[in-house]
Amino acid sequence: MSNYDVIIIGAGAAGLMCARVATALGKNVLVIDHNEKPGRKIIISGGGRCNFTNLNATYENYLCKNQHFVKSALAQYTPYDFLDMVGKYKIKYFDKQYGALFCQNSSQEILNMLLQECSKAKFQMNCKTSKIIKSDCFEVATNLGNFKANSLVVATGGLSIAKLGATGFGYDIARQFNLKVIPPKPALDGFKLNKDDLKYFYDLAGVSSNILISIKHKIYKEPILFTHQGLSGPASLKASLYFDETDIIKINWLPDFSLNDSFYDTNNLNIKLENFLNLHLPKRLTAALIDKHNFKNLKLNELKRKYFSDIINLLQNYEVKPVSTIGYQKAEVTKFGVDTDELYSNSMEVKSVKGLYFIGEVVDVTGELGGYNFQWAWSSGYVAGLNV
Ligand SMILES: Cc1cc2nc3c(=O)[nH]c(=O)nc-3n(C[C@H](O)[C@H](O)[C@H](O)COP(=O)(O)OP(=O)(O)OC[C@H]3O[C@@H](n4cnc5c(N)ncnc54)[C@H](O)[C@@H]3O)c2cc1C
Repeated sequence: MSNYDVIIIGAGAAGLMCARVATALGKNVLVIDHNEKPGRKIIISGGGRCNFTNLNATYENYLCKNQHFVKSALAQYTPYDFLDMVGKYKIKYFDKQYGALFCQNSSQEILNMLLQECSKAKFQMNCKTSKIIKSDCFEVATNLGNFKANSLVVATGGLSIAKLGATGFGYDIARQFNLKVIPPKPALDGFKLNKDDLKYFYDLAGVSSNILISIKHKIYKEPILFTHQGLSGPASLKASLYFDETDIIKINWLPDFSLNDSFYDTNNLNIKLENFLNLHLPKRLTAALIDKHNFKNLKLNELKRKYFSDIINLLQNYEVKPVSTIGYQKAEVTKFGVDTDELYSNSMEVKSVKGLYFIGEVVDVTGELGGYNFQWAWSSGYVAGLNV
């Protein structure tokens, strides 16, 4: 049996960062992964350009039972710390929107950088773990033999996109050690519409519109995209993070339109409602909304003013009750997971099991869309790496 200081299960974003820091401190590190290659999600992320951080990341960008838990790791390893490393490797990047940094060329550059940074770690790929045994140390039984270490770091990610190697193994390890796991759910995946809405919106697949979406206390002004299942696009992905099954989402289809300004604009009064709405909405969306709600398609000056304002009010406070979010096959992340009550926030070590750590997406910390999830992987991996 081979002995190590640290075994990290999962060669993804968090595991690689942890391996980098621990090896830099002189630790003998083994990284185990059942995939053939490390960092598969890094490669496909950000449409192949990896949105590797967000300069404005604070604990408020994360969904977590205890949001304050996120503060310590984020403060110990900030977006600017990661950016320093990106700079050293001369990786070109750009700020797409509000501090969301993407590679100019390819995600592969981020992965190459991380692999270079943890070149002193030993990797066992295609390695399937069957059992973890805890004695005076951690024993990991695998198809490639048994390995022992004083510290075990679980960096197995969430359940999103099984074909990239996602499993629930991290949650199983947590349960083995009697840790609370908040039942995981897919997130950043958009919405499945109910049958009634889909009847009218199904044919809009491919249509996009700039809207304002509200869910709970969150409001996003972003494009929405209709699909054959429901709603996608940045607005829906962002809102899906905060969605619970009983929620109703509100959509303002006319976010830049003010009733007072426009109704009294006499230039508009001689046009039909449909044409008027087409000035603000994609034509197919107007048609679907008129059909669904039986709007009287009269000229504006033939409509009662009250009727017109009721229509606008409906369109600006449009309620949709999705059946669910889309699911793990499309989800960028898995929300919930290992309860942060079980972990020290400054090291990610399990309070009740010395030497056991959980980092990255397997933990109940989920970032909004925009580079926040990688930043959590880097920050949590970093603090664990310092402490293993
Ligand atoms: C399509 C897509 C695009 C994304 N784009 C972005 C983006 O641009 N910006 C951003 O911030 N976030 C993005 N994300 C989210 C981001 O990729 C994850 O939050 C991040 O990778 C989580 O890091 P992790 O190390 O915790 O898990 P992962 O990166 O998922 O790594 C987990 C590793 O554990 C391994 N593993 C799992 N189970 C086992 C097992 N039983 N035995 C051995 N190994 C196992 C897996 O093979 C994998 O290598 C995206 C996600 C997806 C799916």
